[in-house]
Amino acid sequence: MAVMAAQKSVILYPSLGVGHLNPMVELAKLFLRRGLAVVIAVVDSPDKDSVSADAIARLAAANPDIAFRLLPVPSCGREDYPHAVMRIMDVMRVANPALREFLMGALPDVEALVLDMFCADALDVAAELGIPSYFFFASALSYLAIMLRLPEYYPTVPSSFKDMPETALHFPGVPPIRALDMAATLQDRDSDMAKARLAQCTRMLEARGILVNSFDWLESRALEALRCGLCTPGRSTPPVHCIGPLVLPGNTGGISERHACLEWLDTQPDRSVVFLSFGSLGRFSTAQLREMARGLENSGQRFLWVVRNPPEHQSNSAEPDLGSLLPEGFLERTRERGFVVKNWAPQSEVLRHPSIGGFATHCGWNSALEGIASGVPMICWPLYAEQRMNKVLMVEEMKVGVAMEGYEEELVKAEEVETKVRLVMASDEGEELRQKVMVAKEMAVDALKTGASSDVAFDEFLTDLQKNRT
Ligand code: UDP
Repeated sequence: MAVMAAQKSVILYPSLGVGHLNPMVELAKLFLRRGLAVVIAVVDSPDKDSVSADAIARLAAANPDIAFRLLPVPSCGREDYPHAVMRIMDVMRVANPALREFLMGALPDVEALVLDMFCADALDVAAELGIPSYFFFASALSYLAIMLRLPEYYPTVPSSFKDMPETALHFPGVPPIRALDMAATLQDRDSDMAKARLAQCTRMLEARGILVNSFDWLESRALEALRCGLCTPGRSTPPVHCIGPLVLPGNTGGISERHACLEWLDTQPDRSVVFLSFGSLGRFSTAQLREMARGLENSGQRFLWVVRNPPEHQSNSAEPDLGSLLPEGFLERTRERGFVVKNWAPQSEVLRHPSIGGFATHCGWNSALEGIASGVPMICWPLYAEQRMNKVLMVEEMKVGVAMEGYEEELVKAEEVETKVRLVMASDEGEELRQKVMVAKEMAVDALKTGASSDVAFDEFLTDLQKNRT
């Protein structure tokens, strides 16, 4: 293990949203363990998706060894963008002057900058100030492989994947992906969004290296394809380091802060509860919530379900009125075997609880890794961003989950919810799935051990970092 003297700081620069911040916090811990100082510079924007200053203060209190620095920035003025990704990239662009000012003040004690995947424009600031830059890719390595390949791939197919929804697309190192399962941002190659997304991704090649929240075993084919240059023909790829899985620890709060749903799980039999949670942003229509409720009730299985207000409701964080959202009498009828949490559950702790036997997830990459790290078979119900692509990887390549059918339609029916919950929780097929996830879990644990792939990959990255000093 390479140990470095704690002189200069590495600056970690996440984009918006807990899904990008949480793994950066775990990355910061890797640096600290190697004796390197880190600062997480967090953009504090009035725009949607910005993690609140209060939440950052709580995170800082829970991680006293990590320095957090808030960078206040004005609104990007694009609340009207239909896709969050465009807005996030704009916010990060607007944040460049604040980042520059902060870095100017911190020089010469800045070792390097580690940028989130949506922060490519910050490369210009780093270049101006002579700071070595790396990227941290907080999604699947396969997704990176696909995006890097797209500039050559796009001209070979119709301009919109929507014109060929069922066609299987073939990319090096990943399973065939139906066009309609490609990331929402990449569906129309001539759209501003796809162009902006690809431009950002292509700029990642300018960095000294790309850290990825994955591990070699999990995505070995994609890693091979990237390393052989199959994803970037005629272009050079910087070193790719799979240093994960970086997931939230199983215990994020003290005993006094223990969530009521964990107390409830304590009273349930081992592996008997299916957990339903759909990321930091996932919301369903009232009609869909009712189908889910009927499916859960008819499955006869125990469940722990995170419920939020439907999208037509103005606020994401307002408390949902469960009585009016869910079918009449549902809560009473399932009281003995169900627990509904409003808005937010301590997911990583829940997943590691022995009572959990299955996980219905939106396939956000952090959730997928948390499911794997906990050895819990998954029901894949993708909602937004690149989650449909992740679903393909989880079901076809990693074989850690089954797909919910009908997620492309307006409504997933109660019967389908019931079928998949039963499959995962109470069938031979579910048991086989569990065995496969348990293998993936063991491989995940192994990858992080001293001298194993993720540990070595991080050391290789640190060796490159040290070269900058000479
Ligand atoms: N999360 C949580 N409780 C919830 C919902 C989400 O703790 O009720 C956490 C989850 O454990 C994960 C993150 O929020 O670490 C969500 O990241 P992911 O990449 O899965 O999805 P995103 O929110 O970015 O779509």
